[in-house]
Amino acid sequence: MRIFNIKNPKTIPIPNQKVDERDTMFARIARTLNTDAYNHYYSNNPNLKKKDDHIRSLPPLLDPKGKYYNVDHSERATQLFDSIENISINEKIVSKYVKLFKNAKSNTKVLKRIATELGAVGVGSTNLEEIFIYSHKGRLDYNYSEKIKLEHKSVFVFLVEMDFNQMRHSPKANVIFESANQYYQAAVIAKTLEAIVLKLGYDAKAHYDAHYDIILPPIAIQAGLGELGRNNILIADKYGSRVRIGAVTTNLILDYDNPISIGTARFCNVCKKCATSCPTKALSINNKSFVRGIYKWTTKVENCYSIWRFYGTDCGICMAVCPFSHRTNWFHYLIRKVVKFFPIFNRILLFFDELIYGKKWQIK
Ligand code: SF4
Ligand code: SF4
Repeated sequence: MRIFNIKNPKTIPIPNQKVDERDTMFARIARTLNTDAYNHYYSNNPNLKKKDDHIRSLPPLLDPKGKYYNVDHSERATQLFDSIENISINEKIVSKYVKLFKNAKSNTKVLKRIATELGAVGVGSTNLEEIFIYSHKGRLDYNYSEKIKLEHKSVFVFLVEMDFNQMRHSPKANVIFESANQYYQAAVIAKTLEAIVLKLGYDAKAHYDAHYDIILPPIAIQAGLGELGRNNILIADKYGSRVRIGAVTTNLILDYDNPISIGTARFCNVCKKCATSCPTKALSINNKSFVRGIYKWTTKVENCYSIWRFYGTDCGICMAVCPFSHRTNWFHYLIRKVVKFFPIFNRILLFFDELIYGKKWQIK
C-alpha cells in the first residue's frame, strides 16, 4: 500500500459558504409539527413555515393517495427504503477484499476494482474540500442540529446506474422503485467499502441515503465522474443523469482523479429540455445565477418536491428527458463523443434529438 499522495488534484469552482443540511428540502420536510426540532427550525426560518406546512399536509411519498401509486412498485420501494437502515455487510466478502488490499500497490486502484466488482459503474477519488461538508445535521431528529466534524482528507466516490427501462416511465412508480433499488445498492457498496477500510486499520465513513455528511454532486464532479447539468444533477459520461452517487470518506491515502469535461455545460446552453419538460417549472430556463460565490443553474426546490408528493413518486422527468440519459449503446456513445469534441454541432444534434425523442417529455 502506498503511503504518500503523488498528485495534486485540479479543482472545480468552490463555493464561498457551507450548506446546512437543516436547510435542504428533505430535512425541512422531515420535521414533525410541534416537536423541538420543528419549533427550533421555524423560529429561525419563519418565512418557510407556511409553504413547508402546506407541503407537509400533502400525502407522503409512496402513499396510496399519490397519483402514480402502484401496489407493486410503490410497496417494493417502501420495503427497500426501510431496509437500507438494517443492511448487514457480508463478512466473507469483506475478508476476501481485505486480503486483496494487503497485496496491492495502489489503494486507489484496488478500491476502484472492489467498487466495480460490487456493481459501481463509475469510480473516482478526490480530496475532501471542507466546503462540501454540511455544517450541521438536519435529516433525522436524533442528531438534528449536531455540528458535523469530519476530519478525513480523502473521499472515494462511485456511481450506480438507474435502469433505462424503468426511467423511461417517469414520473410513474417505476422511477421511485428504481431510485430505492439504487439507493439500496449504493448503501451496500458504501458500507462494504467502509468495513474493508476499517478492517485495514484506517478510519472511514460511508455516506448513503439519509446519512450524508457531505454534498455528493460537486465531489463526484471533482473526482472526474461527470459535469453538472441545467437539471442540477450530475451528468455522467456514459449514463447521463441516470445515476445515483455513493461515497466513503477516509484517512486512507488515495491518488486523486481530475475533473473532466464531457461538453455538458456547453450543450445545456442550447438545450433546455429538462426545464421545458419540468411539470412545475422548477428548473431555470435562463442563464446561470450567482449562488454562494459560484455561477450555477438553480432549482425551485419547493415546486419540485410538491409535485413529488402529488405524484407519490420522485418524478425523474428531468433525469429521463436529458439527451445524455439515452440508452447506453454504441450510437449514443458516438454522439456523446461528438458533443465532447465538436460543440459546433450542438444545435444540430439537439434538432435531431427533438425530432426523434420529442421536444418535451411524454409520459409512457
Ligand atoms: S424531478 Fe420533476 S419536478 Fe423536480 S425538477 Fe425534475 S422534472 Fe421538475
Ligand atoms: S436536458 Fe438538456 S439542458 Fe437539461 S441537463 Fe440535459 S442536456 Fe442539459
